[in-house]
Amino acid sequence: MLIDGKALAAKMREEIKSGVAKFKNSRGRSVGLAVVLVGENPASQVYVRNKIKACEETGIKSFAYYLPESVSQAQLEEQITELSGDNNIDGILVQLPLPAHIDAKKALELIPVQKDVDGFSESNAGKLCMGEDCLVACTPNGVMAMLKEYGINPNGKRAVVVGRSNIVGKPMAMLLLNADATVTVCHSKTRNLKEECRNADILVAAIGKPKFITADMVKDGAVVVDVGMNRDENGKLCGDVDFNGVKDKCSFITPVPGGVGPMTITMLMYNTLQAALRR
Ligand code: NAP
Repeated sequence: MLIDGKALAAKMREEIKSGVAKFKNSRGRSVGLAVVLVGENPASQVYVRNKIKACEETGIKSFAYYLPESVSQAQLEEQITELSGDNNIDGILVQLPLPAHIDAKKALELIPVQKDVDGFSESNAGKLCMGEDCLVACTPNGVMAMLKEYGINPNGKRAVVVGRSNIVGKPMAMLLLNADATVTVCHSKTRNLKEECRNADILVAAIGKPKFITADMVKDGAVVVDVGMNRDENGKLCGDVDFNGVKDKCSFITPVPGGVGPMTITMLMYNTLQAALRR
């Protein structure tokens, strides 16, 4: 069965919209998200545009800051510090990647934990690890929302996450662990990757290699979640999973496009509303 991320994202955006409207009525101001873009990376420009569009859709007020590629560390830090103290702003998002001359870690750590709607800070990542309430990285949190929507409970299941990045693989593994799955994390140095994957009741691919997960790596009846966003040999958008080869073998599968992708920005809106409600 296909897990329809687009439909769930649309449904959640409606819920978020009514949450934002309620917030506005009771607090006399809108929920605010600041988006900081440095430079003119075309992919980043598209992401930022989509985030601002999602804000408009959900009634969240967006504040966009476009800084030149040449911005200094001090100027960027000054901008983040100013937004940190601004009461109309509930969430701060600095679009990555930042230019090479910027110490991204140092700049990002200036975002207060309660406004870190990307969930990338050491504090939020640490809280997730400790199983505490926190702002969770949007992509893996979107995957958990999809599992829940389709009645897939990770409790007691074997989950295998392929990929160990700080923004997808690791928080994904933590969320599945916190949901009582037995979790294995695989990466480029994993031996017998095929065998590891074949053990999975829930297989999450967050690798960045087109159609890397093939049918022989998937157990019959598994749930397959494809986080990958790649271009195939014809320049067409595709995931990390060989969708056509795998789809008839599994119980559930997320397509690319229309799977995890639409959930990520929706979870950013969700996190921004949560951040506003908590402040
Ligand atoms: P990343 O930082 O490049 O991490 C990729 C991970 O895959 C690494 O842990 C790497 O292992 C592992 N890997 C690479 N080759 C492998 C192999 N041959 N066998 C096993 N593991 C291998 O990427 P990311 O940021 O996590 O993103 C992963 C994918 O998700 C990309 O396609 C990205 O575009 C996509 N993505 C989608 C969304 C969305 O909204 N849908 C959001 C974020 C990312 P090592 O650690 O050993 O190098």
